[in-house]
Amino acid sequence: MKRFKLIFIALIMLLSLNIGIFAQAKKESISIDKLNVVSSFYPIYFFTNEIGKDKINNTILIPSNVEPHDFEITTKDMIKLEKADIVFYNSRYFEGYMKQIETNLSYKVDFIECSKDVKLLKGHHHHHHHTSDKHNHKNQSSTKHHDESEHHSESKDIAYDPHTWLSPINAKLICKVIYENLSKKDAQNKDFYKNNYDKLIKKLDKLNYDYKNNLVNLSNDTIIVSHMAFGYLCDLYNFKQVAIRGFDAESEPSAKDLANIIDFAKEKNIKVIFSEDFVNPKLSNILANELNIKVEVLSPIEGLSSNQNENNDDYFTIMYYNLEKIKEALK
Ligand SMILES: [Zn+2]
Repeated sequence: MKRFKLIFIALIMLLSLNIGIFAQAKKESISIDKLNVVSSFYPIYFFTNEIGKDKINNTILIPSNVEPHDFEITTKDMIKLEKADIVFYNSRYFEGYMKQIETNLSYKVDFIECSKDVKLLKGHHHHHHHTSDKHNHKNQSSTKHHDESEHHSESKDIAYDPHTWLSPINAKLICKVIYENLSKKDAQNKDFYKNNYDKLIKKLDKLNYDYKNNLVNLSNDTIIVSHMAFGYLCDLYNFKQVAIRGFDAESEPSAKDLANIIDFAKEKNIKVIFSEDFVNPKLSNILANELNIKVEVLSPIEGLSSNQNENNDDYFTIMYYNLEKIKEALK
């Protein structure tokens, strides 16, 4: 936390020293006919692209091959944000730094919290551990331990589950906020945005329908996942998650935690242990070995893995992939 604050203050100082330079950069970057949009991370970037398409310059802040929970803002990122006409981010409980940046930028930039209309689920402190991450994380150190408050800066006592985008119903609310704000900023293209938005809503309705209709009459009701990312899916479609990584920020699960999960899995006749794209699957593998069951990837869609990139996956293809995996696991 202290380290984060220091970096932040340093960035603000740098910014105020360089206002002249930024002023120029800002002027140059404005394109006359297109809105300059910065979207914080993959799902927000995807939805914004689907609505704005070629009428906007949409830039992603957190590269899609980087796990966004551990993201740390750099001066370069601050410049990117300052050049934008509008910044879309998910939630103060995910990109906790956005509120501070908004108030400290020397230019007025619209920062839009896309999940503002979502009814947030309470109590989901969560964290990631990257012990020997084999994925392609260019911008991350691999053994970073961080303070929970970096991601939940608004409150130390109550954390809300920030993984709103994994519910199609929440995604509709997110898209509505994006659509409304693009239309407000660029009224000329309102019909274009509306048309794309309507199509997107239809796809999300279909996605919701398919989840609802596939996750019925299943014999099991719980999946074991890598981190607590699937709360909104559980809530919407009536199943439960047990996470290998619990609510505590700094610790790996204890031997006792793991033993409890093993007992639980035996009792429930669990058939799959889920790992995820950007977290070391070591613990999932250990559990699966112990239980003699398989490990599968369930994606929290916090970015795109190199595999997903190669397959040209997007939010929808991954949501459908997840649906198949959840269905199989609950059979
Ligand atoms: Zn997460």
